[in-house]
Amino acid sequence: MEFKDLGLGPDLLKALDGLGYVEPTEIQERAIPILLERNSDFIGQAQTGTGKTAAFALPLLQVLNPDSNSVQALVVCPTRELANQVCAEIDKIAKFTKFKTLAIYGGASYIAQKRSLIRDRPQIVVGTPGRLQDLMKQGVLQFHNAEYVVLDEADEMLNMGFFEDVQNIIAAFDKNRRIWMFSATMPKPILNLINKEFDHPKTVSIKKKTLSNDDIEQRYYTVMRKYHKEALCRILDTEPDTYALIFCRTKMETRELADVLLGKGHRVETLNGDMGQRERDVAMERFKAHKVDLMVCTDVAARGIDVNNLTHVINFGVPQDNESYVHRIGRTGRAGLKGISITLVDPKDQFIIKKIERFTNKQMIKAKLPSVNEIKSSVVTTELENIRGLVETILEKGDEFKLDDTYKIMEECFEDFEKDELLKVMFTWKFNKKLLALDNIGNLDSIKRGNGSSKDNVRLFMSVGKTDGLTLKILLDDVSHKFGLKKSDIQNVDMKTNFSFLEVPTRFRDKLLKSKDLRIRSRKVRFEVSQARN
Ligand code: ADP
Ligand code: MG
Repeated sequence: MEFKDLGLGPDLLKALDGLGYVEPTEIQERAIPILLERNSDFIGQAQTGTGKTAAFALPLLQVLNPDSNSVQALVVCPTRELANQVCAEIDKIAKFTKFKTLAIYGGASYIAQKRSLIRDRPQIVVGTPGRLQDLMKQGVLQFHNAEYVVLDEADEMLNMGFFEDVQNIIAAFDKNRRIWMFSATMPKPILNLINKEFDHPKTVSIKKKTLSNDDIEQRYYTVMRKYHKEALCRILDTEPDTYALIFCRTKMETRELADVLLGKGHRVETLNGDMGQRERDVAMERFKAHKVDLMVCTDVAARGIDVNNLTHVINFGVPQDNESYVHRIGRTGRAGLKGISITLVDPKDQFIIKKIERFTNKQMIKAKLPSVNEIKSSVVTTELENIRGLVETILEKGDEFKLDDTYKIMEECFEDFEKDELLKVMFTWKFNKKLLALDNIGNLDSIKRGNGSSKDNVRLFMSVGKTDGLTLKILLDDVSHKFGLKKSDIQNVDMKTNFSFLEVPTRFRDKLLKSKDLRIRSRKVRFEVSQARN
């Protein structure tokens, strides 16, 4: 099916072509023909990112009269960001038509919005419930000639407590108005509203096949909460060209994480509820314009954010509920592009991963944090590619080199060195500090037991490992028995091939360090205080 088969005019088809929309999405394909008939109320249900905006914008632009200068359709959205986005999307689609649109929302100048209403006479108004009602009360916004009310993201409006307002707004319309409603979910109050206000609505419901789409690779990393920041930095080090939303649970967390990322040289913006509208707009603009690569946000602040081409969605900790997980990751892997979702999960929250998997009906990939070597090669590769790119650009403009005789001095100065040697020196110069620092980083994703290490514990190296026949049971039994510890005192055991690590209460430290005659599977066991943060 193509857009031209849906009954849309040439001006609209031309705009779609310019936008690069090759074929209609499922909701568009099924909703547009119904909406063009103009003879019934409508309910469209489809998950986020399925193109619901164009599904109602296209029919509106087709059926409204561009030569009449009164408000003919009202689109109600839950947030200012969404109102702006919807308005921008309609404008793009209306590019070759005479239609005018206006976004109306709180937190911005009344005067400018009123003036636009009166002077520009938009046919389509997109707004948030509060400000819409204000302007309606003042008589500036009237719906005498308006036939269509679109409720966009109705479930979000419900969540935000706007339902009474929505009903008031609908009440301002003539009885023969049409209501078009779009919503990802249909909770009870929405069904009630439908019963009350809708007249034999036609419904299109796009089943979520598997809830999260196949273009998203879903990974999770099990890491203790306190190491999440460090773990994320390592992941980002090995994923070049990231353009990502990072979701945190609290405002405070967004700030802390953003600080750490900034410290590591990432380009970051934050979006949280503590920020004023102006500040948030600036942050959003910078992110959308790719001036920064990472946007650290809370669910609430990110409501309605719609950014294209995200490479990753990162869950800094598992989200509160399945719905928000799906909602979050649905922001990547759009329009046929591949996306990656990354979830950092504390060992004690791992069961939530299982719940999410059941909900989405898709398995998530359990990933291992990149090793030191992987991080090193990724860091070096990324840097070198940048430098190479620069060198190539300069060389392409070669004839513009401004070399005079002084260049000879440099040439002679380095004459005796081989290219090989020079490269080695350059490499050391550029990378050694960074690489040495990486050598000392600990391993974060080892299997942890109990509540994790505490200040009163000491981490010990133990000279036997799996090849010696060591199992967790033997280790716990023998060590506890030998030194008079409770098994639950032994924590964060990490068994490697030839050796192991474990934590014991500090008061047992010397006892273990001094022990000479513990044997496990006939191998003599020696303890040392562990140096690395294993
Ligand atoms: P929803 O409201 O269902 O969450 P949107 O209307 O915001 O989805 O659309 C999601 C993204 O998909 C937007 O960036 C939009 O520009 C893009 N889009 C919409 N329709 C198409 C299409 N037919 N082809 C390609 N991209 C589309
Ligand atoms: Mg939408």
